Amino acid sequence: MIFDAHAHYDDERFDPDRDELLSGMPESGVGRIVMPGTSMDGQRRVLEIASGVPFIYAAAGIHPNCGVNPGDLDRLENYLQNAAREKIVAVGECGLDYYPAQGFAQPAREAQREAFDSQISLARRYGLPVIVHDRDAHRDCFDILSAHRGVRAVLHCFSGDAELAREAARLGFYVSFSGSVT
Ligand SMILES: [Zn+2]
Repeated sequence: MIFDAHAHYDDERFDPDRDELLSGMPESGVGRIVMPGTSMDGQRRVLEIASGVPFIYAAAGIHPNCGVNPGDLDRLENYLQNAAREKIVAVGECGLDYYPAQGFAQPAREAQREAFDSQISLARRYGLPVIVHDRDAHRDCFDILSAHRGVRAVLHCFSGDAELAREAARLGFYVSFSGSVT
């Protein structure tokens, strides 16, 4: 059975055939899916989709490129308080993205670091693992993560080198090797 730990089926590109696509997953061997959130404005939609499909679970979080609006961390905590009912199994995706943005205003690095740190704190408070987005920000990302003892994390779409992968393993993190290895 394939467990797809990171998919964004809330994307509007799936609007025309989402139900068909998802209902065909089990017979194609995909038995579980986690859909991370990327913004508090889009989180409700992620949870709606997860609530309607038995094998889909959700994560709740704010992507570093989305930025944290006033009240967002309270909204996130509210979701985490109801994690079991909402099928939320992780916080994310959250992290740091220092890759130069194209076509949108990327949040400042300091703001990204604060948002990431806050979301890890919430994850620990609610006993959930963290789905980490790290693009061109490896050192800062690891410094923030390792300041939180005992945090559980999956480094999604890992793009670091072998030494960083070893460091991740030492910290007990899962590492996802996806398109970036090519
Ligand atoms: Zn993602």
